[in-house]
Amino acid sequence: MGIEFRHVRKEYPDGTVAVDDVSLVVPSHRTVVLLGSSGSGKTTLLRMVNRMVDPSAGAVLIDDEDVLRKDPVALRRGVGYVMQQAGLLPHVRVIDNVATVPVLNGVPRRAAREHALELMTTVGLDAKLAYRYPGQLSGGQQQRVGVARALAADPNILLMDEPFGAVDPIVRRELQHELLRLQSELGKTILFVTHDVDEAFLLGDEVVILATGGRIVQQGAPAEILASPADDFVADFVGVAGGRRELSLRQTPDGTVVVDGSGRVQGVLRG
Ligand code: ADP
Ligand code: MG
Repeated sequence: MGIEFRHVRKEYPDGTVAVDDVSLVVPSHRTVVLLGSSGSGKTTLLRMVNRMVDPSAGAVLIDDEDVLRKDPVALRRGVGYVMQQAGLLPHVRVIDNVATVPVLNGVPRRAAREHALELMTTVGLDAKLAYRYPGQLSGGQQQRVGVARALAADPNILLMDEPFGAVDPIVRRELQHELLRLQSELGKTILFVTHDVDEAFLLGDEVVILATGGRIVQQGAPAEILASPADDFVADFVGVAGGRRELSLRQTPDGTVVVDGSGRVQGVLRG
């Protein structure tokens, strides 16, 4: 289940060009991260996959079929979507938030609820939270429910739009590592949006850097981007400029240590 963007453009009715000639492949079972500042067209691109937004030109394909030819309702149920503010139904218990889509797809409620409980465990949530309402959970717990809900219809594709942006840094780190663990088990095709460089480099097999106006300025594995940023904009954006991400070796009488751009010791060199 790969995704392909072919020369995609989006101009909103007021004339704003949100996405400009983007071509991009998200290979099956891989995580591709769209990285860019606010307003660089990340959400617009993501929403073209499940047809919440249609392109003005070009095409988005899933497994070589244009999404415009797929039924939008079926498409949305087959593509999991996690938003920044989990997007949970406030007056519905956690378990039924997770079970909603499978029930809409015709799964009997009882079976859907059993599966929802399993999914809660999968995403690291205690099953005893199942009968609470979303407002009775912490931000991090709500995001986990959001991920469980996106997984409930067992989609091959997961769209994640700044899913951890609204939680504190420690919980955010925890959720990022939880996602890495999940992905190593589930092997979904993930398109993940963030403006956080560290998050992008941690999670992405590939990172796509977008600039204002929705243009791709560089795409590649994190190591490639760090080792050879395409231009000054990228170097500055990912923190290579000014030596902020540069590590160097310093010999000490007791061995070789690694220091960062400001001379602080970051670790030791082995091997
Ligand atoms: P990002 O997710 O990277 O912050 P968006 O895709 O939300 O970027 O927005 C890209 C650009 O398109 C921004 O300039 C934004 O103001 C504009 N935009 C987004 N949605 C609409 C809309 N429905 N109508 C007009 N302009 C929009
Ligand atoms: Mg956005």
